[in-house]
Order: sequence, then C-alpha cells, then structure tokens
Amino acid sequence: RAKHTGKARTVVYSPRHAGPTEHDISLEAAMFQAVREGEFMLHYQPIVAAGTREIEGFETLMRWKHPTLGMVPPARFIPIAENNGLINLLGAWALKAACVQLRQFQEAAGRPLYMSVNISPRQFRSDKFLDVLDDAIAFSGLPGEQLVLEITEGTLMIDPVHAESILGKMVERRARIAIDDFGTGYSSLAYLKNFPISVLKIDRAFIRDLPGSEKDGAICNAVLDLARHLSLSVVAEGIETEEQMQYMRERGCRYVQGYLTGKPMAANVAIAALKERHYAELMGANPGREQAQ
Ligand code: C2E
Ligand code: MG
Ligand code: MG
Ligand code: MG
Repeated sequence: RAKHTGKARTVVYSPRHAGPTEHDISLEAAMFQAVREGEFMLHYQPIVAAGTREIEGFETLMRWKHPTLGMVPPARFIPIAENNGLINLLGAWALKAACVQLRQFQEAAGRPLYMSVNISPRQFRSDKFLDVLDDAIAFSGLPGEQLVLEITEGTLMIDPVHAESILGKMVERRARIAIDDFGTGYSSLAYLKNFPISVLKIDRAFIRDLPGSEKDGAICNAVLDLARHLSLSVVAEGIETEEQMQYMRERGCRYVQGYLTGKPMAANVAIAALKERHYAELMGANPGREQAQ
C-alpha cells in the first residue's frame, strides 16, 4: 500500500511523466462506478471585476466525491478521463449543466452573468463537440455570448489548422474563447493573431509570488500590455491576497478569480452570494479607495 501511495503522488503532480499506476487503474474503475452513482458534481468559482468586486461570471469546476476516498481532485481524475475518453461524457454533461445553472444564477442576481467552462484537448478534438455545444445552448436557452470556453495553449497546438476551424465555429455560436493557464504552455504567440481569442487567463504560477517577485511582475505587465494592444480581456487566476489584487488592479487587470474573492462553491452557495447585495463589501472592496484613483 505504502508503495502505491508514493507512486500515486507522482501521478498527481506530473501526470505526463509517469505511466498508469495500479492505483490509477482502480481509480479508473471507480470512475465508471461514479458516473453510474452520480458522484460527480459541479462547483462554481466567482470571476469578479477587480475594481468593484462585483461578480461578473463563474468558472465551472468539476468535483468528484467518492464515498470512501472523499474528494478526488480534478488534477487526479481529469487526466485519467482524458486518457480513456470518459472526459467526452463528463465534459458534455458539465457544459450542459453549467448553461442551465447560469440561468438560475442570473435569476438570483437579476442581471446578466457569464459562465466559463473548461474544454479538454480530447473534447476539443472530438467531432461530436460542436453538437454537444449546440445541444447545451439549445437546451438551456442561454445566449451563446454568455458562454466562455476555456482551452489551453496545448489544446490549440496539437493541430492548429483544425483548431482554427473549430474556434471559428465556436465563435459563430457567439461563444467567447479564453486561453487558460496563459503563458505556461508550449505555443507560439502567432495564435493570438490568427485565432479568435477574447480572454487571457494569467496562470496562478505568475501571481503566487506577487508583489515580491520582479520577474513575475514583468511577465504580468507584459501580458496586460499585450492584451491591451490586442483588445483582449485578462483574468488573473489564483488571487489570494489583497496585495496581489491591488498589484494587478493598479496595472489595469480588470478581472480576477481566486480564493480572496471566492472559492469554488456549490450552486446553492453561489446563489446565496448573488442574492447578498453586499457581496462586494463582504469581500473587502473599498469603494472610497477605488474612486480616489
Ligand atoms: P483551471 O481551469 O486552471 O482552474 C483553476 C484552478 O485553480 C481550480 O482548481 C481552482 O480551484 C484553483 N484556484 C482558484 N483560485 C485559487 C487560489 O486563489 N489559490 C489556489 N491555490 N487555487 C485556486 P481545481 O478545481 O482543482 O481544478 C484544477 C484543474 O482541473 C483546472 O484548472 C482544469 O484544468 C481542470 N478541470 C476542473 N474542472 C474541469 C472540467 O469540468 N473539465 C475539464 N476539462 N477540466 C477541468
Ligand atoms: Mg480553467
Ligand atoms: Mg487556469
Ligand atoms: Mg490552472
């Protein structure tokens, strides 16, 4: 057992460098069971305006609550699902459920919001994906423009020609495209010129050591500059402290997502937050300071 635990750790942190362990194989079996038993669920993390801390949208994050293992993190089960194809089923369910959920969120908030959904490389490559997207939009009745699809640089680079055509079709449906974990993948900046991207999500790795790290600051400033010139929105991921928030806001980053302004939460908790008129104040916004700038 101890031997397996050690190996399993390797899989959690660097799935690309290790083959499947016995632990993975039993986890895989448990995943099929989990689909039948309905153990997967969705949590939602607020994406807020850096200035007002008003909730603008949510990112859908998948959760798996196993009866004995407890919460299995996505970093653990998404790579397995990506490998065996289960991600197509889970991803289609997540997209549709998230679109339906957003309608309820908007009712609670009394104003338009958007929903950001992660699309894995395998989903993106699947020839069923556009049908899945159409089904989610039609079933929920959600206008396409309220949907943001998050893809990574790696997803785009597997087959850039195919990617360009799929992205075009996503945009025909009025969905917006966000590059997730921006700056951490193997890719060329040329895709920002050729592909219809709307949002860059700066990875938490560049935020974590702010404001102390000069190098991370330089990278964040360069991304914000680039985005400004290309008319893209920027979301800073993983904002945990007031100092990080202030740093990014002062440099013109308009949207943030992180534990400071809201952890991923169950739908009913999100609804309570949306109904709470003073959510922004609860989250520590200081309008006076904002106006003074
Ligand atoms: P991601 O799409 O980059 O999602 C952001 C991750 O950062 C989430 O981890 C979120 O809980 C975490 N996070 C947000 N704010 C903070 C913060 O202030 N501090 C820290 N330490 N972490 C923060 P999570 O939920 O564990 O998901 C990890 C990854 O799993 C996601 O990264 C995404 O790549 C993947 N994933 C999650 N749900 C889905 C899904 O429905 N479909 C697909 N294809 N992938 C998913
Ligand atoms: Mg994401
Ligand atoms: Mg991310
Ligand atoms: Mg990430």
